[in-house]
Amino acid sequence: MNGYLSTHQLQKNLLINISLDANRVYAQKLARMTQSFIVNSQEHLKVSGQHLSHFIEHDGANDIELQSRLEFILAMSNGFNSVSLIDRNGEIRAIAPRSLNLQGTYLSDQQYQNLLEDSAHLIGPVVGPSGKRLIFISHPIRDSSNQRVADLVGTIYLQDNIFLNRLLSQHDYADGSYVYVVSKQKELIYHPLKERIGEKITTNTVINSVIDGENGAMEVVNSKGVSMVAGYAHVAEADWGVVAQTPRVAILNDFDRQLWLVIKDAIPLQIAILIFVVVCAYLIARPLRMLAESTNNRDQAIKVKAWFYEAYLLKKSIRAEIDSLNEKVTKFDEDRKKDPLTGLMNRRAMDELVASLVRKNKSFSVIFFDIDHFKRINDDFGHDVGDEVLKILAAKVSHEVSTEGVLFRSGGEEFVVVLPGDRPHTAINTAERVRNLVMNEKIALLDTSVTVSLGVSNWNHTMDQSQTFKRADLAMYESKKAGRNRVTCRLY
Ligand code: GH3
Ligand code: MG
Ligand code: MG
Repeated sequence: MNGYLSTHQLQKNLLINISLDANRVYAQKLARMTQSFIVNSQEHLKVSGQHLSHFIEHDGANDIELQSRLEFILAMSNGFNSVSLIDRNGEIRAIAPRSLNLQGTYLSDQQYQNLLEDSAHLIGPVVGPSGKRLIFISHPIRDSSNQRVADLVGTIYLQDNIFLNRLLSQHDYADGSYVYVVSKQKELIYHPLKERIGEKITTNTVINSVIDGENGAMEVVNSKGVSMVAGYAHVAEADWGVVAQTPRVAILNDFDRQLWLVIKDAIPLQIAILIFVVVCAYLIARPLRMLAESTNNRDQAIKVKAWFYEAYLLKKSIRAEIDSLNEKVTKFDEDRKKDPLTGLMNRRAMDELVASLVRKNKSFSVIFFDIDHFKRINDDFGHDVGDEVLKILAAKVSHEVSTEGVLFRSGGEEFVVVLPGDRPHTAINTAERVRNLVMNEKIALLDTSVTVSLGVSNWNHTMDQSQTFKRADLAMYESKKAGRNRVTCRLY
């Protein structure tokens, strides 16, 4: 739309400017032709006047001959409607064509005044003796002693202007262009609408400019309120102005129609482009939207078809981000369940395992055990050595029970083995094996071995899980009380 609007504006200005220029040039050409018509007419009267002066001096009374001479001058002229000989009293001695019947009549004082000037000149427009509005071109006739004896006058009727009609009415364009001529009194000398000839127009800026002697072009609203693109030129010899103008609407109408045709032709392609753009935008946006929706779902992110490079990069980095996040979460989860010193699972992990077994109604046994007199080890060898002992025992026992169950560090120097399965007596055996293993494991740091006291208990779906743990704890406590380094069972 923007493109069309600016093109429209630009082309419109261009067209107006071209039209202004064309009309300016045309007005100038017409002005030059009008000028040369006037000069030629004056020349014609001058030459004719010279011949006539000789005739008048020697044969002045021969009216028939005079008449025929005037007829000849008229016939030879380019555009006069009549040619007359006016004597010094203002009487029309002879006039061609004869049919005007004005011989012997006198000019009015005002008409006569115009002829008094002592040179060839152009007069008008005025109302002539025939009552018509007309223009005179006159030339004085002198005798051999250079006395002015008469004036030879050619007239041009404004309403029936032979030359200007021939010249200007050819300018008859279908688009409403036309030409008119104004006199220095701002009176229409020529206009295609004959009834307007003689009209005086004072409010038109073009007319004001051209009568001031200017040549040029401008946009103007004519006396009928129509916007016109006008060129104008001044005719110096007569002080006239020639104006060639075209209605602005005519210039732009055609252009608007052309532009509309161009737009109409372009519409299908534009719609196709629009659809193409929308489809492309959709195709580009779709993987991005799907990726945005899948930022916490790795599988969904993988399914997104990233068909262009940027989406592919985004998908890759989202996947990497989700993977690393998953990794971290898994690691945190593991750490949460792990005892950092021994690397065994902690009480939290044990609770989760037990809860899951209980939920699934899967029977299990537990072995609680506690290192005997561990305080002493810390006291005698230091806390660090105590830690080492915990680690060594954890590793050994964990390995020992790995086929039957899982070893947890439930706190301090206390441990729990959870053994899935409804085989409490196997658990007793395992406890015995653990006790023996620990007892027989000589720890280099201590240069001796340690012992553990154990308590065994079991769970099946008929029991309360907390009671199972209490019984195991109690059994272990009983082992301690009974002298340590032994296994006590509290099974049901
Ligand atoms: P018994 O169990 O045979 O009755 O005697 P004990 O000396 O083991 O007694 P008790 O259970 O009261 O003491 C446990 C000691 O274990 C106390 C504490 O200093 C020590 N202990 C607990 N956790 C750790 C640990 O992570 N590292 C070390 N080095 N010592 C620990
Ligand atoms: Mg203890
Ligand atoms: Mg202890």
